[in-house]
Amino acid sequence: RKEAAIIDGKAIAQTIRSEIASEVRHLSDTYGKVPGLAVVIVGSRKDSQSYVNMKRKACAEVGIKSFDVDLPEQVPEAELISKVHELNAQPDVHGILVQLPLPKHINEEKVLSEIAIEKDVDGFHPLNIGKLAMKGREPLFLPCTPKGCLELLSRSGISIKGKKAVVVGRSNIVGLPVSLLLLKADATVTIVHSHTHDPESIIREADIIIAAAGQAMMVKGSWIKPGAAVIDVGTNAVDDPSKKAGYRLVGDVDYKEACKVAGWITPVPGGVGPMTVAMLLKNTLEGAKRVIKQ
Ligand code: NDP
Repeated sequence: RKEAAIIDGKAIAQTIRSEIASEVRHLSDTYGKVPGLAVVIVGSRKDSQSYVNMKRKACAEVGIKSFDVDLPEQVPEAELISKVHELNAQPDVHGILVQLPLPKHINEEKVLSEIAIEKDVDGFHPLNIGKLAMKGREPLFLPCTPKGCLELLSRSGISIKGKKAVVVGRSNIVGLPVSLLLLKADATVTIVHSHTHDPESIIREADIIIAAAGQAMMVKGSWIKPGAAVIDVGTNAVDDPSKKAGYRLVGDVDYKEACKVAGWITPVPGGVGPMTVAMLLKNTLEGAKRVIKQ
């Protein structure tokens, strides 16, 4: 049988970014305004800094104005919240992103709840997640990684309606919202988590697998139904002395084995990762259009 079709997230994300750039140019030409995204970072975690730099650079490339807010590790929670309030009130800021995780002395839930829902481009505000979970309600923004997973399916011509989808993981940022999105798109959804018995037999029933457990190569080729669509969100560093960095990134799926069984598969890196940033830009554009076009 033939190998799985590889879903090229990098190329799809690039297409989306050029679509966004042309819409931003149109807004600028027509209304003299461009979308604005505030990217807030607290402290100096290396990984967070590199994500934030990537997001700011991606904004610049499509013509979105980024507002940089860099706060020290010890910033009091009240000060961060008053910064968020300031950004809520700023008319040229259409999206606010607070990079997670926050330092231990700051209550993440409290801070995220203070972001105006019409600027919640990460889609993490409890009201946006709540609307996502309810029938007949539309959230203002969908969380970026889950939205990216569905965009990869739709741009690859994979239908969701009536399919059996299994999501591995139930975190607030990936597993849970992607499950809710699939449900809204009329899949029959099962969620596998760390207390699930016999995940293998559940995953084997799936037409669509979304793997987001953060467990290197947990899903084996033999766990996959022939022809299934596999979206691998996992990004795990494993030791690899042959690499200059001393490690390489692998997904939650055993890619080599899975390629022999699946119908479609996303590589790691180059699958879901690039889509997350593209969806952040898209959310910012959507938020800005709601304000600028009224
Ligand atoms: P979390 O650690 O917050 O959540 C992991 C989830 O997987 C939990 O719900 C946990 O279950 C479940 N889980 C853990 N181990 C197992 C297991 N052995 N079997 C079944 N379920 C298990 O991770 P995130 O959701 O934040 O991220 C998941 C992965 O996706 C990570 O590798 C992360 O790096 C990657 N990621 C990639 C992004 C991208 O843009 N490509 C963006 C965000 C994340 P329980 O709830 O019971 O603890």
